[in-house]
Amino acid sequence: LFVAADLAVGVEAPLDEAQVHYLRHVMRRPDGAPLLLFNGRDGEWRGTLEGRGKKAAVAQVTERTREQSVEPDIWLCFAPLKRARIDYVAEKATELGVAVLQPILTHHTIVDRVNVERLRANAVEAAEQTERLSVPEVRVPLALGRLLDGWPTERRLLVCDETGGGPPIAQALAGLDETARAAPWAIVIGPEGGFDAAELASLRRIKDVMAVGLGPRILRADTAALAALACWQALVGD
Ligand code: SAM
Repeated sequence: LFVAADLAVGVEAPLDEAQVHYLRHVMRRPDGAPLLLFNGRDGEWRGTLEGRGKKAAVAQVTERTREQSVEPDIWLCFAPLKRARIDYVAEKATELGVAVLQPILTHHTIVDRVNVERLRANAVEAAEQTERLSVPEVRVPLALGRLLDGWPTERRLLVCDETGGGPPIAQALAGLDETARAAPWAIVIGPEGGFDAAELASLRRIKDVMAVGLGPRILRADTAALAALACWQALVGD
């Protein structure tokens, strides 16, 4: 269960309304029911559900069960998709250990409004289910040009380019040297209509950029995002 409170022995971590409803009315948990808690900073702690008045409840923290783990520093920059698909990307990228989800607005992006709050809730739920001890940061959409203007120089860019602009991703990542493997990374996925030429050119101007292919077929943007992230985690991250 993700809680905002600092976690230490004896802390009473307040639970929000949705969590109380889920525990009490969906899972029918009584007082004293065991809970596993994390806040993204202090590791995983065991606790018990304790009512506080008619509707409220807290998690009474008892002992630490896992040290805080650090997720590999990988961002996923992707053109937002229609609701069900973007929810799916948020959930699966969380399971795949992404650190930051950065929606990007490009020339062919079909969706210009993103419900960031809903994506954040999806990410929390996916982190709880996958038993991560951190929740990915979901950022507000940024125009690709803006994102690249302020690109952090130490972060390596892996551009998935279906126009055949680079080697297969597995070959490219397997050939990285130690410095590159230890660097922070970002995967960039284009919209359903693909990046336009100017966007590909601006992506290629980023220092240490790598353009890679994800196989001979054109993948939907959500498929491409998760294929690339899974490959990166398998060969570089985890
Ligand atoms: N330009 C494609 C077309 O006209 O059908 C559509 C782009 S594809 C649906 C969406 C994004 O997924 C692309 O911009 C790229 O980032 C990624 N992608 C899809 N298939 C890929 C592949 N085989 N290799 C590398 N990237 C791919």
